[in-house]
Amino acid sequence: MSAGLDTTLQGILGDRTQKALQKAFGLSTVGDLLQHYPRRYASRGELTSIAGVPIGDQVTLVAEVVSAKQRPMRQKRGSVLEVVISDGTGLVTLTFFNQAWRQKDLVPGARGMFAGKVGEYRGERQLAHPDYELFSDEEALVQNSEEWAKRPIPLYPATSTVASWQIAKALGIVLDVLDDLPDPLPATITDQERLLGFREALEKIHRPAEESDWKDARRTLRFHEAFVLQTALVRRRLRAQSVESTPRKPGELTNGFLQALPFSLTEDQLRVVEEIHDDMASGHPMNRLVQGEVGSGKTVVAATAMVTVAGTGGQTALLAPTEVLANQHFRSLVQTLGPDMSARINPVLLTGALGAAERKKALLAAASGASQLVVGTHALLGDTVQFADLGLVVIDEQHRFGVDQRDALRHKGSHPHVLVLTATPIPRTVAMTVFGDLDVSTIATLPQGRLPIESHVVALADHPTWYPRVWSRVAEEVAAGRQAFVVTSAISSSVREEGELEDEESEGTPTIPRASVEDTLPMIRNLPEFASLKVEAIHGQMPTADKDQVMQAFAAGEIDVVVATTVIEVGIDVPNASIMVILDADRFGVSQLHQLRGRVGRGEHPGTCLLVTHAEEGTTARARVEAVAATLDGFELAAADLELRREGDVLGASQSGRRSGLRLVRVTKDAELIDRAREYAEALLATDPELGGHPELLATLQARLDERSEDYLEKN
Ligand code: ADP
Ligand code: MG
Repeated sequence: MSAGLDTTLQGILGDRTQKALQKAFGLSTVGDLLQHYPRRYASRGELTSIAGVPIGDQVTLVAEVVSAKQRPMRQKRGSVLEVVISDGTGLVTLTFFNQAWRQKDLVPGARGMFAGKVGEYRGERQLAHPDYELFSDEEALVQNSEEWAKRPIPLYPATSTVASWQIAKALGIVLDVLDDLPDPLPATITDQERLLGFREALEKIHRPAEESDWKDARRTLRFHEAFVLQTALVRRRLRAQSVESTPRKPGELTNGFLQALPFSLTEDQLRVVEEIHDDMASGHPMNRLVQGEVGSGKTVVAATAMVTVAGTGGQTALLAPTEVLANQHFRSLVQTLGPDMSARINPVLLTGALGAAERKKALLAAASGASQLVVGTHALLGDTVQFADLGLVVIDEQHRFGVDQRDALRHKGSHPHVLVLTATPIPRTVAMTVFGDLDVSTIATLPQGRLPIESHVVALADHPTWYPRVWSRVAEEVAAGRQAFVVTSAISSSVREEGELEDEESEGTPTIPRASVEDTLPMIRNLPEFASLKVEAIHGQMPTADKDQVMQAFAAGEIDVVVATTVIEVGIDVPNASIMVILDADRFGVSQLHQLRGRVGRGEHPGTCLLVTHAEEGTTARARVEAVAATLDGFELAAADLELRREGDVLGASQSGRRSGLRLVRVTKDAELIDRAREYAEALLATDPELGGHPELLATLQARLDERSEDYLEKN
C-alpha cells in the first residue's frame, strides 16, 4: 500500500482509529495527521532520578505507579486524583484535578514517563497535571538500549480518548507507507534556507533519531508554513490590484471640504489622505488599512476620501460593527461634513432597527444615488441593498469583520475602493499575517493640543482604602461640570458582556466576585456624593433604542455618569467626558483597556482613567493593568500585550491552531521568519504571478485555500 497527503486515514489505520482521531482532533487525511505535530520532545537520556529532583524544575521521570486514589477537593467542587509514582530512589505524587478517568490507565504497576514541573505541597514533592506516556510491554523491555536512550520521544497534543503514544503509533504506520512527496518550495529557496526536503522533514519531526533531527525538521516545516501563507496573501493582494477600478481623484469638492474644517490636518493625517488619494486615482482598487490611536482623527481622514468619491459622482458605504456605532458615525460624519456638504452628499442611515418605511426610503436613496453616503451595520450586507455607483467601502474596526463581509460589500459595486479603519494598533507581523492582503497606513501622532490621559492603577489588594477615594474623585469631576464613565466587566452577576475574558483565561485574576452593571448602578446612586447626580446604565443586552437613548442623553450632557460594559469600547465620542473608572480592570485585555480609556479626554479637558483592580502584585493580571497605566503609546502596548498573552489569543481563538493553518509559526515570536517568507513570496510572484512554473506550490496553495486557510482568510 502507498499513501499521499490526500489519502484518507480510514484505509490505513482502520475505522476505529480514524474515527477516534476524527473525533478528537478533526483529522481525516494523511496530510491532517502528518500536520499533528508533537508539542514537544522528551529525552530519555537526560532522565532525572526522583531522589534528586529539585523543586521548581521541569523534569522527566521514568517510574512506576505505586498507588492511585481519588478524593473530593477541600475548598471547591470537584475531585483530585492523586497518583504516587516511584523509580526506586524516591516517591513523587502526581495530581490531576477533575480527571478521574485517568485512573483507569494509571493503575499500580504501570510504567511510563512522567514530565512536568516539580512543586511542593505539604512537604511532599508533586507534579501537577504532568504529561505522561505509559510504556507498552515491548517498550518496557528495550528500555535500556543505547539507541533508545538517545531517541527523543515526541509528545503529542492528546485527549482523554487518544493518548500521545497512540498518535505516535498511528504516525509510524502512516510514515511507513507514505510516498515520496514533491516539495512545495522552489529548490532555490530550500537550498538558500538550508532546509530539509519535505518528505524527510515529516519523517524527522515525527520519528527523530536524535535531537538535531526534529530541530531541523521543525525549522523546515515552520518555514513552509510561513512561506505558503505569505504566498497566498501576496497573491490575493496582487490579484485584487490587477483589476480595473474607476479612478476617484480629489477636486473642488475635496478642497472645499478641507478648507471648511475648523482645524488643519496633522502631518500624519495629510500623509494618509495622500496615500488614499494616490490609491484611489490609480485605476485599480485601493485595499488599505488605516490604523491610528483612538482620537488620532481617522474619521476626518475617511470623510475626506468620501468627499473625494462624492466629487466624482460615486457613493460610499460605511460599515460599523454595532447599531450604537453606526448611529454615532452617522452623527459625527454629518457634523464633520458640515451643513452644506451634508446637503450635497445626503448621508443616510441603514440599520436593522429602522422601521419598514424608513428602511424603504434609505434603500431607495442608496439605489437611486440620491444619497452618496450610506452608513450602516450588517444590514448593509443584505441582498436588497443596492447602490447606483458604489465607489468606496469604509469598514470601521476591522477586528469585528471578516474578509467575507468586506467582499460582500465590495460586490455591490464594480471593484470599489476599500478602506479599513482600526484603532487597535496591530503589531507589524500580525498585520502582515492577518491583514497581509492590505496596504497599511498609520496615523501615529494625536492632533495637537490634545492633553494626554492620566492613568492610575488603584490596587485594592495593596490599598483597600482607596476605593471610596475613587468615587469622590468622580464626584469632584462631575461637580466641575464634566461627565464620567464607570466600566464593569459584567452586566449582572450571572451575565457577562460578549467578549469578556473567561475566568480561567486570565492567570492571577482574583476570585472576588466581579463588579457588574446591575450591582454598581444602585451602589453609585446610593453614595451620598452622588445624591443629586443623574446616573444611568448601558450594556449590550438593552434594546438598541434604549442604548441609543442613553448614549444620546449622555452626549447631550443630560446624564452625569454612565455605568457601562464594553459596549462603549469603540468609537464613542463625548468630548465632555473626562474621567473613566474601570472596575476589575484586570478582567480586560490590554488593547481593550487602551480602547476604553480613549473614550475620555477627547475634548478640551484632560482625561483621567482609574484602573481599579484586586489583582495581586506580580501576577500577569496585574502586569497587564500596569502596562496600560505606564504608557499611552498603543504600539508599545501592543508589543507588551503580545508578551503577556498566549499565542492563541493574538489571532483570536478562531484563528489559532487548525483554523489558521498556522501550527508552527508564532506571529508573536517569528517576526523575522515572516518577513523573510514575505520577501521570498514577493520575489517569486513578481517573476511568476500565476505560479505556472511552480505547480507543486500552486497545488499546495489550492489545497490549503480550499480547506482551512481560505476559511481563515475569509473569516479573520
Ligand atoms: P478616531 O476616529 O481616530 O478615534 P476622530 O476622527 O473621532 O478620531 O477624532 C477625534 C476628535 O479629534 C474629533 O473630535 C475630531 O474632530 C478631532 N480632530 C481630528 N483631527 C484633528 C486635527 N487635525 N486637529 C484637531 N482636532 C482634530
Ligand atoms: Mg472614530
